[in-house]
Amino acid sequence: MTVSNPSLPPQKPSHYDFYKVVQDYLEEAAVIAEVEPYVRTILTQPKNEVIVNFPVKMDSGEVRLFKGYRVQHNNLLGPFKGGMRYHPQVSLDDVKALAAMMTWKSALMRLPFGGGKGGIKFDPHSVSKGELQKITRRFTHALGENIGPEYDIPAPDVGTNSQTMAWMMDTYSNMVRSAEKQSVKGVVTGKPVASGGTLGRTKATGQGLVHCILEWAREKSFALEGSTMTVQGFGNVGSHTAVILSKLGVSTIAVGDHTGYLFNPEGFNAHKLQDYVEKYGSIAGYPGGKAITREEFFATKADIFAPCALENQIGEAEARALDVKLVAEGANGPCNPEGERVLLDRHVDVLPDVLANSGGVTVSYYEWVQNKRSESWTEEEVDARLEVVMKRGYREVSDFARQKKCSMRVAAYAIALERIAAVYKEREIFP
Ligand code: NAD
Repeated sequence: MTVSNPSLPPQKPSHYDFYKVVQDYLEEAAVIAEVEPYVRTILTQPKNEVIVNFPVKMDSGEVRLFKGYRVQHNNLLGPFKGGMRYHPQVSLDDVKALAAMMTWKSALMRLPFGGGKGGIKFDPHSVSKGELQKITRRFTHALGENIGPEYDIPAPDVGTNSQTMAWMMDTYSNMVRSAEKQSVKGVVTGKPVASGGTLGRTKATGQGLVHCILEWAREKSFALEGSTMTVQGFGNVGSHTAVILSKLGVSTIAVGDHTGYLFNPEGFNAHKLQDYVEKYGSIAGYPGGKAITREEFFATKADIFAPCALENQIGEAEARALDVKLVAEGANGPCNPEGERVLLDRHVDVLPDVLANSGGVTVSYYEWVQNKRSESWTEEEVDARLEVVMKRGYREVSDFARQKKCSMRVAAYAIALERIAAVYKEREIFP
């Protein structure tokens, strides 16, 4: 069975301003958190915006120029921290939005990190593995001292993975003095385990999302066993979420990615589909499902919808079509403000990105700590720590939202802002 060509294009209306959306949430949360105006002013812009243009010799002999970004939003609580995205739609404003969200995420999860994000505007599916390695190494070289284990620590995001991080770490370690080589493993997280990564990192974002869904189910007295889910994006976050939930009796009945959408009322075998995507790069051609359109995907009746692809996927139309009880944001910014408003009006709960997908940066922190101490923790230890902090995060956000009568998203932002503002108050502004 082949996947249909979705009738809607890769859905990003040009008027969508992701950075403005994040700014508006910041403003709304700052009022509730009673944050002083000067703190708000500081947080409206990133500290640094790095743009690099670098040449790479492709397999054909042609020399192509690539544009890479690294936005460092804030480092009050610790080094800048956040993923590197390889995608044709990467833009400076989107990276700024994502970098700011990393600042809130780190503060919300009480991690000693700030926020950053970066990426390169190109399609990683369109180049060979050798070219991908050259692009990654040259990008790392171009960033130079703008990254570092105590300064700015990249991680995987859309279009990048543990292999990308191994290349980045290796390149960076070849740029420092010989005596420092061993001490800079923590320049990136999300590395392969043998190269200094941690057990439990690959699945961490999905695992963290599942902890939030479990807490939500407990709060609502909802039985997960025997329930159904739809997932948009079947990469790292989407596939691990589906696999982990399948063990809890949740059946994934519709999936979608950049190639199209599939439906299977009996439920997909999440493990097999994950292996398939690992091998072929997408769900296209997977034999176990019926091709459906994007509209049919969003109208599929299920208990939970986990958007795990890109921002701005759930606008007003999608929110009206969704027939679910919960939207659990694995992706960053998947609901636009109009979409979220419709969902909340229809009493569909929304677990916001800043909380729901923070398992990734949390386990990245565990990796960084292990690198610093030359330790390797067991997967059980990583999982146990993650469970404690995800459940604490959920409780804090849920309680705040109830007390202040605001959405969980605004609650998550407000808690983060309160913590950052408290530190600005103590340290004050230099000089
Ligand atoms: P990934 O590259 O592993 O997977 C991305 C998925 O999105 C793929 O299945 C891809 O086909 C799909 N996709 C891309 N464009 C699409 C489109 N136009 N329509 C439908 N599907 C599309 O990336 P990932 O690491 O799983 O990241 C997914 C989301 O989760 C992103 O928003 C990312 O910022 C967020 N996130 C990731 C992590 C992490 O640890 N990897 C942590 C926190 C948040």
